[in-house]
Amino acid sequence: MAASQCPRPEKHRYATRHGAETAAYRAQIGVGQILNPYLCQGCGWWHLSKKAADTVPAGAVADPAVVERLVALDDIAFRALAGDEARGQVAMPERIALRSPRLVARWRRALGLIIQDVDTQLSMRRGEKNTDWGRRILAFKTVLDARRAEAGEVLASTEGAAQAEQARLGVERARARQEALAAKKSAAELRALAGDAAIKRLIDAHGLEFSRYLAEECARLGTPLPARVAKYLDQEGEAA
Ligand SMILES: [Zn+2]
Repeated sequence: MAASQCPRPEKHRYATRHGAETAAYRAQIGVGQILNPYLCQGCGWWHLSKKAADTVPAGAVADPAVVERLVALDDIAFRALAGDEARGQVAMPERIALRSPRLVARWRRALGLIIQDVDTQLSMRRGEKNTDWGRRILAFKTVLDARRAEAGEVLASTEGAAQAEQARLGVERARARQEALAAKKSAAELRALAGDAAIKRLIDAHGLEFSRYLAEECARLGTPLPARVAKYLDQEGEAA
C-alpha cells in the first residue's frame, strides 16, 4: 500500500511499537504531552496519537449484558469481532467483555484461528511479503500475536484466581470438617463421661443391690466373685 493510502500521511511513521514508544517518551519529556502508539491500518506503520492508549484498563469490570451478548454470538461472528478488536474497531465495553472470565478462553481460540488464517495467506502469497499487502498483514499479525499473548495472560490470571478461590474454599471446608469432627468427638467423650458418672452414682446409691446382682451373675457363669465385692458383701452381712 502506498503511503498515500495512509489516512494521516503527515504523521511520523515508526517501524515498530518500540520505536514509536521511544519517540513518545521523548516527546513527553519535551512538552509534557502524553502520546500513545497505534498501528496504522492504512500504511502498516506505527504512528503516535494524543488519543488514549489502546490498552484496556487493568481491573476493568465487564458489563454483564455485553458479556451475554457476546456469549450468544456464533463462531463466525465472534471471530470477526476478535479480528475487528485487533484492528482497533471495537468499542471499549466489548473489549473489556472479551477479557472477562466467560469469554477470554474463546477470544484466545478465535485469535489463534485468525493467526492460522493469516499464516496460510502469508505462505500462499510468499512473494508479496514486501508489498503493501505484505506489510499490512504482517502488521496485523503482530497485533494478533500481542492480543493472543494478552489473552493468555488474562486467562492464566483468571484461572489462577479461580484456583486460589478453590484452594481457599478447600481450606475452609477442611477446617469446618475438623471442627465438626472435634465437636462430635467431644460430644461422644462427654456422653461417655456422663455414663461413667451415672454408673458410679448408681453403684454408690445401690451398692449392695449391685453387688448382689454381680454375685448372682458370677455364680451363673461359674466364675469367682471379685475379692473386693465378696469382702463388701461380707461386711454388709450377706453370704457370698
Ligand atoms: Zn499510516
